[in-house]
Amino acid sequence: MSFDIDNIRNDFPILAEKIYGKPLVYLDNAATTQKPRCVLDKITTTYATQNANIHRGIHYLSQKATLAHEAARQTIATFIGARSTNEIVFTRGTTESINLLASVFADRFCRPDDEIVITQMEHHSNIVPWQMAAERHRLHLRVAPIDERGELRLDELEKLLNHRTRLVAVAHISNVLGTVNPVKRIIEMAHAHGAKVLIDGAQAVAHLPVDVADLDADFYAFSGHKIYGPTGIGVLYGKEALLDTLPPYQGGGEMIQNVTFEKTTYNELPYKFEAGTPDFVGSVALAEALNYMDNIGREAIFAHEDHLLRYAEQRLREIPKMRIFGNAADKNSVISFLVGNVHPYDLGMLLDKTGVAVRTGHHCAQPLIDLLGIPGTVRASVAFYNTCNEIDYFVEQLRRCLDILQ
Ligand code: PMP
Repeated sequence: MSFDIDNIRNDFPILAEKIYGKPLVYLDNAATTQKPRCVLDKITTTYATQNANIHRGIHYLSQKATLAHEAARQTIATFIGARSTNEIVFTRGTTESINLLASVFADRFCRPDDEIVITQMEHHSNIVPWQMAAERHRLHLRVAPIDERGELRLDELEKLLNHRTRLVAVAHISNVLGTVNPVKRIIEMAHAHGAKVLIDGAQAVAHLPVDVADLDADFYAFSGHKIYGPTGIGVLYGKEALLDTLPPYQGGGEMIQNVTFEKTTYNELPYKFEAGTPDFVGSVALAEALNYMDNIGREAIFAHEDHLLRYAEQRLREIPKMRIFGNAADKNSVISFLVGNVHPYDLGMLLDKTGVAVRTGHHCAQPLIDLLGIPGTVRASVAFYNTCNEIDYFVEQLRRCLDILQ
């Protein structure tokens, strides 16, 4: 399949919806992405033709559902370059992946006064679980600063690393600034100090090539709904040797090998971390989304998104009093901005009436927004089904909203 934008847009039923009678211009892809018809169909046909609980069933449907779920795990492993399906733990999303890791990693590897390093640009999902772990285990959270362009200060990050650093947890792409962090370099630096690294890939897997083995990432988290898959499913990747040493997270069915009232032994990887009935429809639909992307071609998708981002930035910069937050040399898919003293909510609300969906507020990164000394931003974020015509419409409507508000 080649990159034919009309065909691609036809694959996404929601893009034909009218909002207040106007065509939808969906620029809130960093919050969640729309779903192609093949993903929607996969959900329906899975329920319609092979719905049965997996793993323990002897009957035909259960075995079919189990095979599909495990094939999906393989598709996901291949998509992110994991060496084995044992390294792919299904979760509800990035947030649950990080909570899982923060809980079991701290239990296993952290002693009082050990340190966890995060950065100033983290999403609440990659701050709060570490604060909670720090409170439970009396750890110290260290925060690496960013510069005025919104790039991580690698020199300062390096200074924070020492023999007490157990883990560095960092976003691959900032959901506010669009900064692409040099995660391979950060992983090298952390490993040189004996620390492990978690990459929060919520904004990255859909927008740049990810190869966890090449990165040498210890852990990598992402959400299905931000990569054209369904809500309620996500992934925690972990190196097999590391996951093996970690204790289980939740207890229940599936994660056990043998249970007596006296003692329980735990299942092998990755099931040790997957208590309860997994989202075996979500997994299959997520794999469908990844196959859909690969059929179009990730290279073509990312090139189109890059073009859209640059075009949108250029058009937005033509607007007087425009302030764009995040000017990193390596930037991806997200533009946060303010214009003059106009409040972001006012702009977002007026834009909504024109059919344009953008996000406004702190984007679950309050410490970063406080650091910038602003009330929040308007954030436009692109996906490969967006077009330059949509960007033109967005900028035109934005100018009209500003005429009303300024
Ligand atoms: N990290 C980042 C960088 C994000 O952008 C998001 C979603 N906005 C999350 C974590 C949390 O993802 P989810 O809500 O799907 O768990």
